[in-house]
Amino acid sequence: MALDQLYQEVLLDHYRQPRNRGELADADVRLELKNPFCGDEILLTLKMADGRVQKAAFEGHGCVISQASASVMTEKIKGLRVEEIEKIADQFTRLVKEGRYERPEEEEFDEIEAFAGVCEFPTRVKCAMLAWRTLLQGLQAHEHDHPHDDH
Ligand code: ZN
Repeated sequence: MALDQLYQEVLLDHYRQPRNRGELADADVRLELKNPFCGDEILLTLKMADGRVQKAAFEGHGCVISQASASVMTEKIKGLRVEEIEKIADQFTRLVKEGRYERPEEEEFDEIEAFAGVCEFPTRVKCAMLAWRTLLQGLQAHEHDHPHDDH
């Protein structure tokens, strides 16, 4: 299977069967952002514990890229600390803007790589980034409100 075909499969799979779809009732972080250029919407809820994302869920609608991105993201960030998440968000940003990604050696295939083709379509970068922007803004607001709440 060609690589771009594999990427396409991953995106469609997440779009058709979104992981972690829903809204957490006991969320510590709750934020909704929109991408007016495409009509994409993401409502993200997170449950935090010990400075880590314990649970993540999203509701939303919009194009394949925006929804698949949210689905892949909620899988990816579970159990991670905020600093780790910020690092992955940086990698993802570079990937969708420049098509560059350094895969950690221990991983065979990272579903994040499926977004490598986005860099060829600059208008879609906002679609791919919407979930991650929601995540980073939500986490920042949470840190601001709970500066010592990491134990
Ligand atoms: Zn979109």
